[in-house]
Amino acid sequence: MIRQSSIFIVGPCAAESEEQILAVARSLRAGEVLRAGVWKPRTNPHSFQGAGIEALTWLAEAKRQTRCATATEVATAEHVQAAIAAGVDYLWIGARTSANPIAVQEIADAVSSLMVNAQCSMVNGKWSMVNAPQACLIKNPVNEDTALWLGNIARLEAAGVPVMAIHRGCGHRPCWQMAYDLRQQRPDIPLLLDPSHLSGQAEAIPELCRKAMSELGLDGLMVEVHPTPEKALSDSRQQITPTDWRQIAESLPAPSGEHDPLPWLRAIIDEVDDELWNTLLRRQDVSRRIGIIKHESGLEIVQPERWQQVLDRRQQWAEAHGLNTEDTLAIMEAIHRLSVGVQTTDETAKRLNG
Ligand code: PEP
Ligand code: MN
Repeated sequence: MIRQSSIFIVGPCAAESEEQILAVARSLRAGEVLRAGVWKPRTNPHSFQGAGIEALTWLAEAKRQTRCATATEVATAEHVQAAIAAGVDYLWIGARTSANPIAVQEIADAVSSLMVNAQCSMVNGKWSMVNAPQACLIKNPVNEDTALWLGNIARLEAAGVPVMAIHRGCGHRPCWQMAYDLRQQRPDIPLLLDPSHLSGQAEAIPELCRKAMSELGLDGLMVEVHPTPEKALSDSRQQITPTDWRQIAESLPAPSGEHDPLPWLRAIIDEVDDELWNTLLRRQDVSRRIGIIKHESGLEIVQPERWQQVLDRRQQWAEAHGLNTEDTLAIMEAIHRLSVGVQTTDETAKRLNG
């Protein structure tokens, strides 16, 4: 599907004050949508939970002064009604809510009743819906579940609202496989990347924006932008300044509308490699603990019988999965060398200290 222009939704993680919202709104380029969380789904009940309903008036004021469209996160039917009554244009459903189909259905039902009574009006020279959202955006669920994400899209579509999807990763790592599956199954749904939540690190944002727009052909970005990220009341490590954002935005290409599977598959390979190596780190950690027990019990580091068991088990596994046995065993031997290495190092360190 060829799209004329990218969708950029930028603004602070949370609305903290009217001055903060106006400062970001004034920095936006034409067409950019101002985002700000009003009700924050926080892990810790003692963290900042969002400024609540009062913050909707700050978004309305920003829209009045700068004519930017606005977006906020909704997690309940009441949030939907309050946000739309305050003139918010786009609603997004966060990753935690997206993991709960009952909550998504409640939101979809609230949107549906607004759509029934919505009117079309000329706003800033364009036909727009008033008293209803322009679109609902749905983030991927926190758990890696493409079917649930697709189901949420279907719930919102049934409410009669245009839908867009946002890939925000799982925790602070990407789930390119899930985003790729969504793109394959619903190429008609605009797909945005949220590099802030995906990485949790401001330094990672420029490269992720480039990758999303230049390699993967995504339709837009949702980026956390704060006038003073180091003072942010939530997600301060992953927000960038308006100046940083402008620099990134100006370097991005126009959307090509092409879907090239190769960069996607390479992104998935990188992700799988990271998983493999992280698993290896976990293995090294277990191995280190075994090394301490061996040392304390006066056992040799290499126990030939146990090593033979490990090799036999892997050989059977390779045969069952159609992997070349010789290569598989060579990899197992290399892994074993790493393991012996960590046990030797630990033992040596202990001797030196003791
Ligand atoms: C957010 O966008 O501020 C947010 C809470 O994101 P997520 O739902 O992706 O964690
Ligand atoms: Mn955030």
